[in-house]
Amino acid sequence: MDKQTHSFQAEVKQILHLVTHSLYSNKEIFLRELVSNASDACDKLRFEALDNAALFEDQPTLEIRVSFDADARTVTISDTGIGLSAEEAIAHLGTIAKSGTREFMARLEGDQKKDANLIGQFGVGFYSGFIVADRITVESRRAGLPADQGVRWTSEGTGDFEVETITKPGRGTNVILHLREGEDEFLKTWRLKSVISKYSDHISLPILMRKEEWDADKAEQVLKDEWEPVNKASALWTRSKSDITQDEYDSFYKQISYDTEAPLAFTHNRVEGRSEYTQLLYIPAKAPFDLWNRDKRGGVKLYVKRVFIMDDAEALMPVYLRFVKGVIDSADLPLNVSRELLQESRDVKAIREGSTKRVLSMLEALANSEDVSDKDKYARFWKDFGQVLKEGVGEDATNQERLVKLLRFASTHADEGVSFQDYVSRMKEGQEVIYYITADSLAAAKNSPQLEVFRKKDIEVMLLVDRVDEWMLSHLYEFEGKSLQSVAKGSVDLGQLQDEEEKKKAEEAAEAFKPMLEKLKSALEGKAKDVRVTTRLVDSPACIVVEEGDISGHLARMLKQAGQ
Ligand code: ADP
Ligand code: MG
Repeated sequence: MDKQTHSFQAEVKQILHLVTHSLYSNKEIFLRELVSNASDACDKLRFEALDNAALFEDQPTLEIRVSFDADARTVTISDTGIGLSAEEAIAHLGTIAKSGTREFMARLEGDQKKDANLIGQFGVGFYSGFIVADRITVESRRAGLPADQGVRWTSEGTGDFEVETITKPGRGTNVILHLREGEDEFLKTWRLKSVISKYSDHISLPILMRKEEWDADKAEQVLKDEWEPVNKASALWTRSKSDITQDEYDSFYKQISYDTEAPLAFTHNRVEGRSEYTQLLYIPAKAPFDLWNRDKRGGVKLYVKRVFIMDDAEALMPVYLRFVKGVIDSADLPLNVSRELLQESRDVKAIREGSTKRVLSMLEALANSEDVSDKDKYARFWKDFGQVLKEGVGEDATNQERLVKLLRFASTHADEGVSFQDYVSRMKEGQEVIYYITADSLAAAKNSPQLEVFRKKDIEVMLLVDRVDEWMLSHLYEFEGKSLQSVAKGSVDLGQLQDEEEKKKAEEAAEAFKPMLEKLKSALEGKAKDVRVTTRLVDSPACIVVEEGDISGHLARMLKQAGQ
């Protein structure tokens, strides 16, 4: 193929513009992104070669090399991974297949700091090379293709890129960055080394750099032909807990999650028994931008005996725990486990159940802790992830009871942080049910006339104001034997909370107002099913309620908004 010029997809152009014009703080992360791509490419080769060993050709080693040429002012990242065919280079390095680009740009445009760190989260890491380079050349050959079907991709990171066919004997990819004026700091071994150990230590492949030696005659460091590994390449989770510091746990988390903040909590265990595996799972301190996307890639990586298998193994974690990040390394699964197999495997089921329970235990430990800082952590967790956790109440019948205890709400007693246990402990003498009301907002719930009699009698009512609450309530009927009752449905029965005299008065009133009720009923025909005398109001003259068993007024409004 002769040289062809292609135009970048519009989104890529926008990204490139942002990258080169405003992403400057933390620019060093370009190296992490390119090393991580090199590592992904090696993982892909290993995975595809499980079915087709010929892909290894005559080069069985998987490794990453980072080098620089001070005269040419280039930094090169090479790998012996899967490589790219010409078509793949055009598709993968010219368009963006993933969603999230728009969020990415919105974030950057809004973000004062313009933190380049964000880029990896959004699947556009490759383009971060243009922060420091004004030209990038990619030379690649896909494993299994003949040597003369290599490809060279070149771009200055503006409107377009060029591709041409080249001969490349070794499979894999070289990414060559032609540094911008002023970026010479990256033409130094110590600088590159320090960035690698900061961000890429956990990469389980060796990252090699050329050795340096002091030359007394020239009075400077010179590069030797010998290469040495510069990362620890230790799979952290395989080490024993007692040998790992909090710092190491935190930095591993940051490497796998692209989060800049330390995690809220983690759990690290070797599980033995029917199925053997190691789990290292983290709860982030804040929600990612795509928390609401239920289809997004899972945050738990699957390894089998330290070999990376897949990244988005949704079979390992229920959807409502999609915010959990970490690693699961199985000792039992076959290396060539496919996605389909994963869904069916009994071992995977056991891992998923075990890991779910672990995460719940972690949350319970924070929620029930006497320690103020743990309690505070749980409150932070709840603020960011509570609504997602509520999905579990409907989706995970096995753990429903545990999940319900983790829920926190507002009530007429406190604006936040009320658990069902708190509520039950404050129930009035003779109170048999848990009262709640749903609404669009806390203000709307608090001002509801339905609450009047409860206020008067000082009976606590849960105020459920999250969108998922209605849905959750369709799966939740009781807590510890006490049923949940909406104060906006049916004729609220206060049972023993009403004394005999009150009951009698109510009956008398119902009798006395009968003719009036009849008149109202016929006046409201077709609009109201029934008109009743009620004891639930104190100050307001009237309120609207729905029939027991009907959908609530709040849900009806939500459905209407959604166009149903
Ligand atoms: P992501 O890594 O999240 O997919 P990137 O922007 O970092 O996004 O990379 C885009 C794509 O380019 C990758 O998905 C991959 O297909 C391809 N790619 C990048 N670097 C390499 C490499 N070293 N070897 C093979 N393919 C690569
Ligand atoms: Mg990448």
